[in-house]
Amino acid sequence: MITIIGGGLAGCEAAWQAANRGVSVTLYDMKPNKKTPAHTNDNLGELVCSNSMRSDSLSNAVGLLKEEMRCLNSLIIQCADATKIPAGGTLAVDREGFAAAITEKIKSHPNIKLILSDEIAEIPSGIVIIATGPLTSDVLLHSVRQLTGEKDLFFFDAAAPIVTYESINMQKAYKASRYGKGGDDYINCPMDEQQYNQFWNSLINAQTAPIKDFEQNVFEGCMPVEVLAKRGEKALLFGPLKPVGLRCPNGDMPHAVVQLRQDNSDATLYNMVGFQTHLKFGEQKRVFSMIPGLENVEIVRYGVMHKNIFINSPSLLLPTYRFRNDERIFFAGQITGVEGYAESASSGLVAGINAAHAALGREDVVFDIKTAIGALADYISAAKTENFQPMNINFGLLPPLDVKIKQKQQRNEAISQRSLNILKKA
Ligand SMILES: Cc1cc2nc3c(=O)[nH]c(=O)nc-3n(C[C@H](O)[C@H](O)[C@H](O)COP(=O)(O)OP(=O)(O)OC[C@H]3O[C@@H](n4cnc5c(N)ncnc54)[C@H](O)[C@@H]3O)c2cc1C
Repeated sequence: MITIIGGGLAGCEAAWQAANRGVSVTLYDMKPNKKTPAHTNDNLGELVCSNSMRSDSLSNAVGLLKEEMRCLNSLIIQCADATKIPAGGTLAVDREGFAAAITEKIKSHPNIKLILSDEIAEIPSGIVIIATGPLTSDVLLHSVRQLTGEKDLFFFDAAAPIVTYESINMQKAYKASRYGKGGDDYINCPMDEQQYNQFWNSLINAQTAPIKDFEQNVFEGCMPVEVLAKRGEKALLFGPLKPVGLRCPNGDMPHAVVQLRQDNSDATLYNMVGFQTHLKFGEQKRVFSMIPGLENVEIVRYGVMHKNIFINSPSLLLPTYRFRNDERIFFAGQITGVEGYAESASSGLVAGINAAHAALGREDVVFDIKTAIGALADYISAAKTENFQPMNINFGLLPPLDVKIKQKQQRNEAISQRSLNILKKA
């Protein structure tokens, strides 16, 4: 028997996977009696914001992730497909119908006992999956904090955009560290005065995403790049864009420099240093593409600033989403540092299978890192970064192909085909 706390996307998927393996599951949610500030619906599996699960194409990593989940009999994808509404190449759903379908499947499963209106404060005994999301209620948060320790629990996601290396124009950007200290650790995008002024003007006038009432106070401790820019035309030049010690390879001294720091061990992803931002996603693409070297930038993870409770998974979890220090405990969903609806459900899928295997005395299931579901689990449990931040699935997390394919769409489709072949053989 296993206990799951949280009937969101991750918790429902985990319950479904475990129950389908013949294990008795008790699933708790504090709804409808108590709701997080982002939840409004009484059903399980509620989409708290957009009704889109993003691209459904195999040339896109989130499309691959969903296709893998289809192969693995995912409840969330099954219900999304059943309640799909027309939205071009994206998988968008009828929000109410989607949550109702998930709730119905969970309620009618013979191996699942659903207990609603029960806010869990203590981590229960036995095999347990904690899937209480980015807005985990305070009483349980206290218990999670005791489990992880204060330093491994984060409350606020203030992330700068992450971009692919291959989309950076290295004819304009150059590798160097400030004053030559640290070798070629950073990629630097130099600007002359005119380019800087145009960029600064666009940045201070760009549209920001709305801040939710419950998030007002979390913004006090951290300054978005656009807010710093609004302090004056030169503010960025003494902050993240300061050029000192970063002379161009041709000897010129730039007026401003945007630095990018390596973000994964394969050096396929880079983050924009000091660019935590609250700009709308489309505005990030528009304004940051004005930076020389980033004209065609591919942003795989947009900058965000929002309330988001998550644990320092690389030091706490295994690729099965199992807690390293107490093997009966699993985490799933956004609380592990995966970012997004499909990603949250995918971690529930892995945790659910493995919790069931633990209950049945079977071996752990670790997905191949050449699959999207395995690559995300690998990132979550082993990311080599000082500042762990939530991550969407993207092709930069998967190992490259053995053969070179120049055209990006074909290359991504080939990576997807490789992943699906591996899954089908397993
Ligand atoms: C405001 C906001 C907007 C977002 N918008 C998007 C978006 O548009 N697109 C996207 O892809 N991702 C978005 N995300 C990120 C993420 O995909 C969602 O938060 C997603 O719902 C996470 O799934 P989950 O299963 O981890 O958590 P949730 O879906 O939040 O589920 C957690 C469940 O646990 C329950 N719970 C919490 N504490 C307790 C407790 N102590 N006892 C019992 N039950 C408890 C809650 O009632 C809830 O039902 C957003 C996140 C936030 C915070």
